[in-house]
Amino acid sequence: MSRLLLRGGRIVDPSQKLDQVWDLLIEDDRVEAVGKDLPQDSDTEVIELTGKVVAPGFVDMHVHLREPGYEYKETVASGTAAAAAGGFAGVACMPNTDPVNDNRAVTEMILDRAATEGSVPVYPIGAVSAGSKGEEMAEIGDLVDAGCVAVSDDGHPVATSFLMRRALEYTKMFGIPVIDHCEDMSLTARSSMHEGTASTRLGLKGHPSAAEEIIVARDVILAELTGGRLHCAHMSTAGSMRHLREAKQRGVAVTCEVTPHHFTLIDEAVSSFDTNTKVNPPLRGPEDREAVLAALGDGTVDVIASDHAPHHADEKNVEYDIALPGLIGLETAVPLACEHLVHTGVIDVSRLVELFSTNPCRIMGIAGGTLEAGAPANVTILDLDRQAAVDISTSRSKSRNSPFDGVLLRGWPAMTIVAGMVVWRSEA
Ligand SMILES: [Zn+2]
Repeated sequence: MSRLLLRGGRIVDPSQKLDQVWDLLIEDDRVEAVGKDLPQDSDTEVIELTGKVVAPGFVDMHVHLREPGYEYKETVASGTAAAAAGGFAGVACMPNTDPVNDNRAVTEMILDRAATEGSVPVYPIGAVSAGSKGEEMAEIGDLVDAGCVAVSDDGHPVATSFLMRRALEYTKMFGIPVIDHCEDMSLTARSSMHEGTASTRLGLKGHPSAAEEIIVARDVILAELTGGRLHCAHMSTAGSMRHLREAKQRGVAVTCEVTPHHFTLIDEAVSSFDTNTKVNPPLRGPEDREAVLAALGDGTVDVIASDHAPHHADEKNVEYDIALPGLIGLETAVPLACEHLVHTGVIDVSRLVELFSTNPCRIMGIAGGTLEAGAPANVTILDLDRQAAVDISTSRSKSRNSPFDGVLLRGWPAMTIVAGMVVWRSEA
């Protein structure tokens, strides 16, 4: 039996309403106890954490690991290494691989890779429809049986109201959410940024807020009709926040996530024509960013997820309108949230932990999100005072597509522990 004592850190665990300078004792892969001045024997390994935050392991529930099919962009090994270095003790991976994760064989292959080469646990998300084509429903029962924790046709909306209704009804049997990429694609064809004054000035075709909000509204109505669980991914507009706030007040089983790039950047950033600012949904207007910040503050938003979307340099070093959308986010999500949400007073540290750990674990029904005795010993340790610039050249990801290179941020992960093992620690 191995014992690890994390001593003197500020333990922040909203699942127990805990915010105390205490100790955390780990025995093998489980939390043994949290408390004041926990006893240690001679063979207990001790890590001093005075001044650091000790939280239940963060989980990024929206990551593109790209394997199988696009290993030149990312693999399970490189993506989970980036996750550990970003303070994440787990990731959920989207099914838009090649082949699509719409059957047991792909799910099992991802889990097998994660077990042999992964730095942190991987929770696969299966496709809603076969090939994510929006026609026939995938074998969702089989996917869940193989280890999928949710279903999504991410990259695309669930194509029709009919299919979404069926998916919400069917997933109730398994207690899993349908994760929704909300985009009416008839309104966004060939668009490369948010539709607004900036797109007009830059001469780029716009993606209107309405394209997102129409699908949010449709699927909230279907969630209410069916009683199924809907999770809206990467919400980016003021109107979406309004729909979601109202739906939650009515008791609809809907949750949602926002990304760090949508609460830090606006469409004006596209003026640089840096293709790393091209994302889907696009960076929105200033009033949308304000609405996202307000929704983070008032509890409308449940989760911060990175939408880590690695691309090869050749897919980004092209004209803006043909560049692939997406940015790498696993190693910048936590410092962006510390800098722009915690240090500005938009949220407190307990809410940060809820957004990165308690809520994603609850929504996906996975173990973790708590430091209660007996829970898996997955821990994220933060140094809220450390100030450093993002250096994308040191990223563990295989890709380099980030608009945040060189940006100075305060508040960084210091250590990531999975099942009682330190899988990453900051050299700073
Ligand atoms: Zn998406």
